[in-house]
Amino acid sequence: MEKYVYMDNSATTPVKEEVLKEMLPYFTSKYGNPSSVYSLGNESKNAIEIAREKVAKALNAKPNEIFFTAGGSEADNWAIKGVAYANKGKGNHIITSKIEHHGILHTCKYLEKHGFNVTYLDVDEYGLVDLQQLEEAITDDTILITIMFANNEIGTIQPIKEIGKIAKDKGVLFHTDAVQAVGHVKIDVDDLNIDLLSLSAHKFYGPKGVGALYVRRGVKIDPLISGGGQEGNRRAGTENVPGIVGMGKAIELAYEDLEEKNARLIKLRDSLIQKIFDNIDYVRLNGHPTKRLPGNVNVCFEFIEGESLLLSLDMEGIAASSGSACTSGTLEPSHVLLAIGLPHEIAHGSLRLSLGDFNTEEEVDYVVEKLVEIVARLRAMSPLYEDVKEVK
Ligand SMILES: *Cc1c(COP(=O)(O)O)cnc(C)c1O
Repeated sequence: MEKYVYMDNSATTPVKEEVLKEMLPYFTSKYGNPSSVYSLGNESKNAIEIAREKVAKALNAKPNEIFFTAGGSEADNWAIKGVAYANKGKGNHIITSKIEHHGILHTCKYLEKHGFNVTYLDVDEYGLVDLQQLEEAITDDTILITIMFANNEIGTIQPIKEIGKIAKDKGVLFHTDAVQAVGHVKIDVDDLNIDLLSLSAHKFYGPKGVGALYVRRGVKIDPLISGGGQEGNRRAGTENVPGIVGMGKAIELAYEDLEEKNARLIKLRDSLIQKIFDNIDYVRLNGHPTKRLPGNVNVCFEFIEGESLLLSLDMEGIAASSGSACTSGTLEPSHVLLAIGLPHEIAHGSLRLSLGDFNTEEEVDYVVEKLVEIVARLRAMSPLYEDVKEVK
């Protein structure tokens, strides 16, 4: 394929060269087990602690509040199950939203089978939770509020500071799945009143299979993985040293020139949205116009199947997603698009284009050019579109 355009940066990102370069020695020459007492082991141990400092610094946390995991899903599972079981004596109620990642939703469903009650908050047409509804949902039994920082499908960024304030005032713990936000949005866990936060390296140009959970000092949480005494006795298992080193470098790079990078991405994102609207009719933008991730575009093309659109785009060398990567392959439309009030038939025609550091304006133009052709071709086969065209 002569041209390949990757616009699925919310699904995953490539590992940056600088990141890979720092990781490589920890696969070969610096292979010591961090728990070993000799110097080869110490070298690995030190590398982990340097990475921990970098992650902590990026969040304005302390290094001893950062615990490495095997990714975002593990961090989400740990935060919810760990807090639920450690605080069972206080209550059994958890509050979340209807548009969370499945790492949160399926964990909550699991806990419902084990004696916990979960409230799933509605969101408005933009995907925002209602603060008053949140406040009213809190009872004496509420032990945890878990609301995502930014949505992986529609990019909507929640009022995290206000949510954290409500939780703090009521004495309830606040966890946020910040997997889409870390490395892309400025985060200060103190300023935002966050008690627990999940992150994952492969969403910000780090390696797959490594993430972290931030746990504020003093928060009661049970381990998810029992065994050896790694991670301060809280997460057993020999550490993924190369992965952790890579995550440290990646998070440092991500925040180095965040403002310039985001200014460029927002321009690119808004240009892509504008060009789609200028050239294609019967389109709607999903998510909030401004309270959204810098690289996120999510649109619905009426009278079109998202899956056919993806296949056609793939044939033109364009990687994108419909719904989310985890729900692709099923015929159910995305739970996020249904929660913002889209009817089934429109939710089926959704397309997410997520931009990253390597995308260019030239690629935006190429994608719009191909979209115009593909949408016209697919609509020509749709009887419903024939009907509206005649009315016009
Ligand atoms: C990708 C993602 C996850 C899962 O992270 P993994 O590291 O792939 O397990 C969780 N939550 C959100 C919002 C995500 O985008």
